[in-house]
Order: sequence, then C-alpha cells, then structure tokens
Amino acid sequence: MMTEKAAGKFKQALIQVYTGDGKGKTTAALGLGMRASGHGYRVRMIQFMKGTSYTGEMAAVRRLGEGFEIFQFGRDCKYAESMAKGEFDCDGCGECFVIPGRPEPRDIAMAEQAYELARRTLEGAEADLVILDEIANAFFFGLISEERCAALAALRPQGVELVLTGRNMPPSLIDMADLVTEMKMIKHPFEKGIKARHGIEY
Ligand code: ATP
Ligand code: MG
Repeated sequence: MMTEKAAGKFKQALIQVYTGDGKGKTTAALGLGMRASGHGYRVRMIQFMKGTSYTGEMAAVRRLGEGFEIFQFGRDCKYAESMAKGEFDCDGCGECFVIPGRPEPRDIAMAEQAYELARRTLEGAEADLVILDEIANAFFFGLISEERCAALAALRPQGVELVLTGRNMPPSLIDMADLVTEMKMIKHPFEKGIKARHGIEY
C-alpha cells in the first residue's frame, strides 16, 4: 500500500527570506501569518533563541485559536509577567542574550529542540505556513550549522510555504529562497537611545 506524502494547502508554495539589519523581519512574518491564518491556512512560527513569552504576538495568537501557533526556544525573562502587562520595561539586563561565540550548552540544547520541531513540522506538513524566526541568528551564534539549516529547508514538502528570518542569513538559504527581502536600516530609534517599546517592539 502506498502511503500518501504529507503536503500543505498552498497551491504554489515558496521559500521566503526576511533578513537585514533594519526593523521589521519578525513583524513581517507575523503579518503574513495573520493573513494566511485568516484564510484558514495553518500557521506555525518556531522561534530560535527567543523565550520572550511577554510579546504581544504570543498573547494575540492565543486568542486566535489553534490555527496560528508560536513555539519559543530560548531564554525567558524573569520579568516576563510584568513586561507583558507593560508595568516594567526591559532594563537590558542581558540574561536572555547569548554571548556571540560563547553559546552555553542550554542554548545549544534549545536550538536542537527548535530544529527537531521544525523538522517534524516540515516533514509531516503539520502547518501550511512554517516560519523559522531567527534561524539566521541561531546560525550566526554558532548554534546550528549552515548545512543543517539548508537540510531543514530542503525538507519542505509541496504546498508548504517556508519563511526564514534573521540578520546574517547564510548564503545557501538565500540561494534556496524564491523571495528575499532585506530590511535595511535607514534609522532606528535605538540609535537615539530609545529602548524596545511595549506593543511596538514586543
Ligand atoms: P521586529 O521584531 O520588531 O520586527 P526584527 O525582527 O526585524 O524586528 P531583530 O533583528 O529580530 O529585528 O531584532 C530584535 C529586536 O531588535 C526587535 O525588538 C527590533 O525592534 C530591534 N531592532 C531591529 N532592528 C534594530 C536595529 N537596527 N537596531 C536596534 N534594534 C533593532
Ligand atoms: Mg526578529
């Protein structure tokens, strides 16, 4: 007996990359997720290196129901609850940050878990739109190799749209993509010392 190969629901599914040093990569991926979800496509965002459970998008997708899921694999914040309520602004303590070139075993372990979920999601077409948020950062910080990132993207079945985000996108993923957008920073309020804002940056 032939088993049917898993497939997504998009008629013409592609690979998209949002990269560059300007703001808007994750925001664009979330906007796309909302659009797809509105038409009944199943959306799954897998976030590498992010445990920012206080973000507005986490709360928003919970309200949307099961058609739009976000899974996080990163260090959380000890102030998450107050941050979510807007009672406390990030003071830049850096505890949720991985130090470049010095990832800790727990960071590698979480990236592996994200990888495993991404592999399963793609292989089984468990979502129609799969967003691997900050996968480029996971590569850049030495948590996963370029070869493994490319191998993951190559698993994409028919009908599954794949979105990859993050600064420093590995060249092989740019090669594989059909759509590549670079968010170029012209200005960022961070330069004026304005920190991440509730409801805007998170
Ligand atoms: P966003 O999540 O707001 O769409 P992003 O995904 O494009 O941003 P990341 O590289 O993931 O940006 O950066 C994470 C955080 O850093 C976000 O809060 C974002 O607003 C902020 N950020 C983005 N670009 C810059 C920049 N050029 N300088 C400083 N901070 C930035
Ligand atoms: Mg981002």
